[in-house]
Amino acid sequence: MDLLEHQAQELFAKHGVPVGRGRVATTPDEASAAAAEIGGRVVVKAQVKTGGRGKAGGVRLAGGPDDARGVAAAILGMDIKGHTVHKVLVTEASDIAEEYYVSLLLDRSNRSFLALASREGGVDIEQVATENPDALARLAVDPVDGLAWEDALRLAADAGLPDDVRDPVATVLVRLWNVFRSEDATLVEINPLARLADGTVLALDGKVTVDDNARYRQPGHPRFADVTATDPLESRAAAKNLNYVKLDGSVGVIGNGAGLVMSTLDVVAYAGEEFGGVRPANFLDIGGGASAQVMADGLEIILGDPDVRSVLVNVFGGITACDAVADGIVQAIGLLTEAGETISKPVVVRLDGNNAAEGRRILAEAALPGVISSGTMDGAARLAAELAGKGA
Ligand code: GDP
Ligand code: MN
Repeated sequence: MDLLEHQAQELFAKHGVPVGRGRVATTPDEASAAAAEIGGRVVVKAQVKTGGRGKAGGVRLAGGPDDARGVAAAILGMDIKGHTVHKVLVTEASDIAEEYYVSLLLDRSNRSFLALASREGGVDIEQVATENPDALARLAVDPVDGLAWEDALRLAADAGLPDDVRDPVATVLVRLWNVFRSEDATLVEINPLARLADGTVLALDGKVTVDDNARYRQPGHPRFADVTATDPLESRAAAKNLNYVKLDGSVGVIGNGAGLVMSTLDVVAYAGEEFGGVRPANFLDIGGGASAQVMADGLEIILGDPDVRSVLVNVFGGITACDAVADGIVQAIGLLTEAGETISKPVVVRLDGNNAAEGRRILAEAALPGVISSGTMDGAARLAAELAGKGA
């Protein structure tokens, strides 16, 4: 998950990385009040998850509260590279003497972490890397040993930073490492890290990506999720711990195992060509040991999608055999009916693998209205696509 600048700043402040005072505003009046509270000149900054905001006109200086109101009015609602601005950050304006660049990132190819520093900040770092590679210094960071102050100091020297800022920049780097490690980030970047006229060093911009796989040990992170930007079905699925992605077609898909679900999407799209371009409505992997409850949760999300016109359940029985899955489907539909859901959309079920025959027998015996068993993946996909195409 990528964080907004003000969220990155919050993590920076928590770990002692120096940041300016700032307040978030969602209306011009709030921006004006924030400017009044901060006092003096302020910078009003678009909060969107993309770089180059400055060039796009999303970072602007304001002389005081009235000016901040006008500037915020211009920035709020702006479109920056496809991102609409809903929030601005109002920060105290700094008197910049020089701009540097520092970052820490996961270096997958070397299976370690990497620290970067450059004397040329405030500009696109990829451009520095290609046009002026000497200005960008690198240092591998061992995940266990971490970043020692002496190494950070050497990196600052290698980057060609002026003598008198190397110490404070090394301190920032070590604290940035603490952000990176304690917050389970895969990227932390400060561009620019500014040296102000009075000699102090301040992070004027912040970019942080946290690793979603570490969510279980980062109870503070879910509050950073942008719920307004997430699809409501995806939020509901996430709340139930389902691996669900909304797509734009009309055949709801449930399967066990990400690979099987992905190939099911392909097969549905292929079969759907015959019925006027019918396509899958979602990805949903209920995983290996799926219980009846997980099947019920999955069906509920998919049946609750107004775009869905038919559902395809594609299960390959392995450790969880098909009879258990069939029992799960029967119970799931029972649970949904009890909960007052009407199963008004046809559900095509393809069971194969371990105990497939027994699974099909269970479904046949249950004779659930709207549930159709199909023997092959191609046949099931074709039927589901046809039913969706008819608007069944
Ligand atoms: P980005 O364009 O999305 O990377 O947004 P930044 O937050 O990096 O801001 C872009 C540029 O605005 C920076 O490189 C600075 O030159 C400038 N800027 C940001 N904050 C201040 C400030 O407090 N004072 C001044 N004078 N310039 C600032
Ligand atoms: Mn920047």
